[in-house]
Amino acid sequence: MGQDPGERPLRCAYCHDRVAGRDALACDACWTHLHPACAEELGRCPTLGCRGAGWAPSKRVRWEELVRAAAPWLALGEVLDAAGAWGPTEPGLSSP
Ligand SMILES: [Zn+2]
Ligand SMILES: [Zn+2]
Repeated sequence: MGQDPGERPLRCAYCHDRVAGRDALACDACWTHLHPACAEELGRCPTLGCRGAGWAPSKRVRWEELVRAAAPWLALGEVLDAAGAWGPTEPGLSSP
């Protein structure tokens, strides 16, 4: 409750230090999390046998940020819904 998912501590697979989900980079193949600096230093995924070729922001964080970014629009939709903005009730158009 009240915990920011972006701050959930993960472990960097390279230096084994904590890394905040918001700051972490994830292998695009196995989602191993690393500090951006560690990923840069390594140049590749530290997981044995992984063929990951690149880095992406943590998937989970990306999704949660997407939801957070959409929240104002969802709220706006509810406001418009309550105001009947979606109804085909344009005055003067539906009368005979
Ligand atoms: Zn690290
Ligand atoms: Zn990997």
